Amino acid sequence: MIQDIRLFGDEVLRMPAEDVCDFGAHLQQLASDLLMTQAEAKAVGLAAVQIGVEQNVFSIDGSTVERRGRREVLVNPQVADSHGEMVEEEGCLSFPGIFVPISRPAWVAIRAQNLDGKEIVREATGYLARAYLHEIDHLRGRLFTDLMDADTRRDVIGKMRSLRARERSGPLARFFPFARTAS
Ligand SMILES: [Zn+2]
Repeated sequence: MIQDIRLFGDEVLRMPAEDVCDFGAHLQQLASDLLMTQAEAKAVGLAAVQIGVEQNVFSIDGSTVERRGRREVLVNPQVADSHGEMVEEEGCLSFPGIFVPISRPAWVAIRAQNLDGKEIVREATGYLARAYLHEIDHLRGRLFTDLMDADTRRDVIGKMRSLRARERSGPLARFFPFARTAS
């Protein structure tokens, strides 16, 4: 099912997610919800906490940024290694319409499990590396605002407060036209 995406200000976004031990029906349902909600939002990635589930799981659709990218769900992901540095505009579905240049490693290796519990490793560069790191941050209760300088952060938080005040009456998910590169 398509789920509501939690916005900045929702305290679940600051909760560290718990590791998954049970790879049963609940996890399969969560994975399906993530993939459907992410596709509807046309996002690169979506962390379980963004739909209010404090489980260490995220979905990613690499095909949105790379021709042969995979569309999959990663469970209990960890950053195994990273190097380099790259500054690029980054968005977040929990901050609709906001894009800010953020510095992140240019290459990353992720260790995780798939939906059957099998250990997997993924390596990525560029925007896909950025998306992996962005989603893993979500699962630790971190947001991209934590990586901004103080002035930019203040500006972004101010914009989010006025957006929430303006759109209180309707589902915000319908109001962001720039979601394609958000995660
Ligand atoms: Zn995000």
